[in-house]
Amino acid sequence: MPELPEVEVTRLSFADRIAGARILSARLGKPLRWPLGIDPATLAGRTVLGVRRRGKYLLVDLGEDPGQDRGYAPGQADGLLLLHLGMSGSLAFADSHPAPGPHDHFDLATTRGVLRLNDPRRFGAVVWAPGEDSPEARKLLGRLGVEPLGPDFDPQAFHAGLRLRNAPIKQVLLAGELVVGVGNIYASEALFLAGIHPTTRASRISLARATRLHAAVRDVLARAVQKGGSTLRDFSNAFGESGYFQLEAMVYDRAGQPCRVCGAAVRRLVQGQRATYYCVGCQK
Ligand SMILES: [Zn+2]
Repeated sequence: MPELPEVEVTRLSFADRIAGARILSARLGKPLRWPLGIDPATLAGRTVLGVRRRGKYLLVDLGEDPGQDRGYAPGQADGLLLLHLGMSGSLAFADSHPAPGPHDHFDLATTRGVLRLNDPRRFGAVVWAPGEDSPEARKLLGRLGVEPLGPDFDPQAFHAGLRLRNAPIKQVLLAGELVVGVGNIYASEALFLAGIHPTTRASRISLARATRLHAAVRDVLARAVQKGGSTLRDFSNAFGESGYFQLEAMVYDRAGQPCRVCGAAVRRLVQGQRATYYCVGCQK
């Protein structure tokens, strides 16, 4: 499943190239998780102002062509497309694509190339919203926690949020209410780096430990983005969890193998139907 770093790497792969492009047409394939919400023909003639990311959504801002000066404030957009890759989606932006295959469910043809969504399982979506504060957008973005790599993610607020939650820390991270984008691999890895046992109740984590976890979350995600960015060319073929595996996980998927720090065997447990990997020697 594409996680936040993969979505950010996807954004970086085409955002610069599509900014300023005028939409020529939009084509829908089979139904995705949610309907587009607008007649695709009405997208033609609009200009792509830029592409932002919020959690695992890509926000394609549309509006009037700003001319030579490409800078814009998202508030100037007069609509946006919210793209989600679901379980199996991938986006490719190219001068042209072959005729759409059975899993190509959205094409946005522009003056600079065609953005295509391929999604075999169709849990992904492309949704139109008239603005970021519109009900259409708020329904998808309204409950997201803060961005892990943004300025609003700070240790004190994170700790205050943890204090209110009694669930195991691993599940609190995965829930995405305090901070978005810490998927299954990243949660195991960040907890290892912070030395925190995954079953620890979130409310019992001290400010010092919360501060270490805050730094670990940022570190793990930022390195994954960086690594993905350096292998962009292979990215569309290497989707899913491979982006992180290139980083050499400390614990994820290493059950029974020696911890890279202390040598104890890495253990696996299941929390909320998701596998968690940890080291009893390093995580308390
Ligand atoms: Zn260890």
